[in-house]
Parts: sequence; C-alpha cells; structure tokens
Amino acid sequence: MKKNVKYIFVTGGVSSSLGKGIISASLAKLLQGRGFEVTIQKLDPYINIDPGTLNPYEHGECYVTDDGAETDLDLGHYERFSSTPTSQANNITTGRIYQNVIDKERKGEYLGTTVQVIPHITDEIKHSIKLLGNTGKFDFVITEIGGTVGDIESFPFIETVRQMKWELGHSCAVIHLTLVPFLKAAGELKTKPTQHSVKTMLEQGVQPDIIVCRSEYHLNEGIRSKIAQFCNVSEESVIESIDAPTIYDVPLLMREEKLDIAVLNETRTEIPETLDLSNWERFVKRLKNPVKEVNIGLVGKYVELQDAYKSIKESLIHGGVENECKVNDIDIQSEKITSENVVELLSGLDGIIVAPGFGGRGIEGKIEAVKYARENNIPFLGICLGMQCAAIEFSRNVLGLKDAHTVEIDEKTKNPVIDLMEEQKDIENMGGTMRLGSYNCKLIKGTKVFDIYKTEMISERHRHRFEFNNIYRDGFEKAGMKIAGINPEKNLVEIIELENHPFFVGVQFHPEYKSTVKRPHPLFVGFVEAVKENK
Ligand code: GLN
Repeated sequence: MKKNVKYIFVTGGVSSSLGKGIISASLAKLLQGRGFEVTIQKLDPYINIDPGTLNPYEHGECYVTDDGAETDLDLGHYERFSSTPTSQANNITTGRIYQNVIDKERKGEYLGTTVQVIPHITDEIKHSIKLLGNTGKFDFVITEIGGTVGDIESFPFIETVRQMKWELGHSCAVIHLTLVPFLKAAGELKTKPTQHSVKTMLEQGVQPDIIVCRSEYHLNEGIRSKIAQFCNVSEESVIESIDAPTIYDVPLLMREEKLDIAVLNETRTEIPETLDLSNWERFVKRLKNPVKEVNIGLVGKYVELQDAYKSIKESLIHGGVENECKVNDIDIQSEKITSENVVELLSGLDGIIVAPGFGGRGIEGKIEAVKYARENNIPFLGICLGMQCAAIEFSRNVLGLKDAHTVEIDEKTKNPVIDLMEEQKDIENMGGTMRLGSYNCKLIKGTKVFDIYKTEMISERHRHRFEFNNIYRDGFEKAGMKIAGINPEKNLVEIIELENHPFFVGVQFHPEYKSTVKRPHPLFVGFVEAVKENK
C-alpha cells in the first residue's frame, strides 16, 4: 500500500502537438527505472464522454483498455512505454465530468445547493485524479492535461491543478511543456512564447515548477537562464526536449536532461541511487541497428492521417526490433485499390496488413488486397475489419458465395458471413456499446497462432459490433481456412488462419493495443518474422 502519493501535472503551452503524451510517458519510464510505481492519466477538455464516437479525422486512433474504455491515443503511448495497463480511470473528459456531476445533481446529492464549476466541477475532476492515487498502487500519478493553457475548455482543469497544489504542497509538481522556436531571420531561439505561456498559467494561479522546452536546436546556457529568470524556476528545472529521430529516444534524452531528478527534487522525494534503463537502451540500440529491412503495406482508408493507425505502426516497430529488422510501413489507400491495379499497387510489398475500420468506404479495395495476399503467398495479417474482409474474400472467391458480405455494409446479403452479434441487435446508443475490452480466446493446437503464442488461452482487446457467422464455419474449415481461435464463453470465432500459406492470419481482436517495448506482441513478432523469411 503506497501512502505518500505524488501528483505530477503536465500542461502544454504555445502550440498543440508538442508531445505532452511522450514527455509524460518518458517521465513515467524514468521514474520506473528508479524503482517507483507510476500511472499516467489524461484529462481531455472536450465534451464527448469519450473519443469512441469521434472519427479518426478528428481525433486519430481510438485506443482501447483491458476494461473496455475507448480512450485517447496517448494512453497507447503510456502503455507502450510503461507496460502498466491503463483503465477507465486513466482517461477523463469534460463530458464525463459534467455527466457525473449532473447525475449527482439529479439524485439530489448536492442537497439543494447551486451546482457550479467551482467547487462542484473542480471537485469532480479532483476526485478523478485522486481515484488513481487512492488505489494504493502508485508512488506517482502523472496527469496530462489535454489542450493548451489559455483555452476556454481547459480552465476548470487548470483551476483544479491550482487547488491541488495549494492543498498538497510539495506532493504536487507542475511540468509545463512549451515551444522554443528558432527564428531563421534572427538566427536565434526565442523564449518569448514560453514567457507568455507561463504568464497565462500565472493568471490562472499556477506557477509551473519545471519547464520542458521543445526545440529544434539545443538550448544554450543563455537561453536556459533567461527562461529560468523570466519564468521563476531554477535553471535545473529548464529541460530541453530536442526533436528526436524516434519517440523511443525521448526517455534517454530526458535522462540526460535529468527530468526525473527535477521532479524528485520538486516533490521532495529521496532520489534512489540507481536508474536502470538497460532494457530500454537495448531496445533502442536494436531499433537503430537492424540487419534486414522489409516493406509492409498497411491497407486502410485513413492512411493519410498520421495518427489513425498509431498502435499498429508502433507494434510493427516492436515486432521489427525483435527480429532485428527495419519495418517500413507503406500506406496504401484502400479506396484506390481495384482488381485492375492491385498488382501494380501491391507488388514489391513483403507483407500486407488490412486495417480495422467502420463502414463501406474502401472495403472492396481491402478485399482485393486480401485476395492478392492469399493468391500470391504474401504474409497477411487482417485486424478486426481486416479479418472480416478476409472472411468475405474467402467466401466469395474460394467458396463461390459471390454475394458474401458483412451485414454492416449489405444488410440484405444472402450470405452474411459477418453478422451483427446477438447482443448488439437491440442497441440504440452508439457510444460505449460495442464489444469492448479484453476477452479470452482459446487457441487450437496445431495452428500457426498456437505456435506463435505458445499457450492455449490468450486474452486480447476488442472493439467491434459484428462477428464471424458460425453457420459458415464448416465450409471454411473444409476449404482450408482454419478456425484457429475461439472465445470459449460465447463460442465466437476470433481467429481464422489459412493452411498452406506462409502466414495468413485474421484476428477479430486488436493485438496492436497490447504491444509494448517490454513485451512486443507475439503476433506482430511472428508476422514480421514470416515477412522477413518470405522476402
Ligand atoms: N466495423 C467492424 C465491426 O464493427 C470492425 C470494427 C473494427 O475494425 N474495429 O465489427
């Protein structure tokens, strides 16, 4: 039971997209390296209850936790860096806070008082933060506050930080991440945006304790002391965050900059002698010294968005490192693929992934990509909708069921190989109602996936409404598509696997949500291995 929990807040200023999530995750890694238990939480200022209903153009990937929370993609970074599972409690939005407060108000829990932003909303935010601290599991709770200071939406969150700092004193520290731009015409780095950003924090009553400066160039002593002086922090608390070749360099860079020491000093925590990042260093070393290189096509409809398939891309990196192999992920827009151009678009790829997704746009292109991989013995991994496309392709082109489809796209198909799950049929609300979170899957002996996982019972995370239709199971098996994994409780098909193919696996779940630096996901490791061997 941990008692003296320290709360670290990470806020952002000057610009969005400076990498608060990576800084938070890197700090967690450093503190873990010193032997502390750490969890990271994200507070998002938007009014959606969770990002599950947001499309990838708005919000990038939706990450799913073991307990079925649909969350911000930063939680993926947290898990990949720290290997500590996150949960519903690790991602809270303004919408969720207001929903909780309004529910309480309806129940009469405020006993007739006027319900206001301060104290009721801020109390609810505080409650969500302390919920993690009060589990007794963690020495540090790192809370990343989404958005940029000065935004209307983030005001109640910053006000909560002010109150917690006041209440908890040195058990709290605030890290403010800003941008120190380089002005080409002047030939120098500029600190003024950082000064203004800290002023905005001060107007809201919060003095940041540590300033992390994102920059394209190294900060010299002059810049550091200027920032320290203007922003009321010590020079040791001005931390440079220089652009790095990969996000996996950031914990090592933060170690050099002593971010962990600044945090430990600020929170009056005794500094453990050793900082062990040896596993991380080994990972980065292997990442930078591959002996082979492969090209894997990622077929999806959101490929032009950097963040839409974040976890898949990171999992490929993990799988690559495990195989000492550089993986180039080649984005292929599924809408562009047709039977006429498929050879031209996909030849040259050493492996193909068909991505998860919703709706009909680009689905015929995905099905074409599956066909190409199946017929040309190209290692293939289909994830969620990608697995469903593999089932449709097999039905149409091997079983001869020409109109086979998923009910999601063709409600009236005579061959619904992918059908709506029974428990989904009466659902009206779209938010949070899919089959979400971890479910067991029993692997069938003698399959490739069994060899890869090296165990019979696995648990993987899901996010879907539709499933493989059991009526078609026998036909699939007889024609060489094995049912390789089954959910034992509900008898649902979770994995299909083609015989006599170097690697052809479709999974109804999302292995990409469980791959971490410490434990690269076996399926990605196995897939990259097959791709490498097949090259
Ligand atoms: N749209 C499909 C379903 O709901 C697949 C979802 C996904 O790929 N995550 O079943």
